[in-house]
Amino acid sequence: MQVDKTPPRIMGLYDAPMWQFLDDDRALRLQCCSDCGTWRYPPGPVCPECLSSASEWKPVSGGGTVISWVMFRKEYLPEYPAPYNVVAVRLDEGPIMISNLVEDPAENVIGRKVTLVVVDMADGVKLPRFKVVE
Ligand SMILES: [Zn+2]
Repeated sequence: MQVDKTPPRIMGLYDAPMWQFLDDDRALRLQCCSDCGTWRYPPGPVCPECLSSASEWKPVSGGGTVISWVMFRKEYLPEYPAPYNVVAVRLDEGPIMISNLVEDPAENVIGRKVTLVVVDMADGVKLPRFKVVE
């Protein structure tokens, strides 16, 4: 998948640190509750488990498991010409992240283990994507 211009990031109130860590450190960090350790993604103001507002941005292992995937054969964004894949990955830490595999799968990948790859897009944007590891 080669694109020249990445669609703009959709920034909520709490998203900026994740993208900043990705840009600065090439590391995916997610919000984690300082009181009970529950990972939060998408990020938010309070922990969904214990309602604590205390959190820190901790690096994730990068490991995960594909829980769903699809090949889009219709173009929705000019930056992403069809066909391209979209995956739902359950990170080893628990949160589910929607992303892409760096290579289109040739077979069903549900249940396959993946690892995080920080991809440099042609316009300099860094995106968290995944690679099948087994
Ligand atoms: Zn908590």
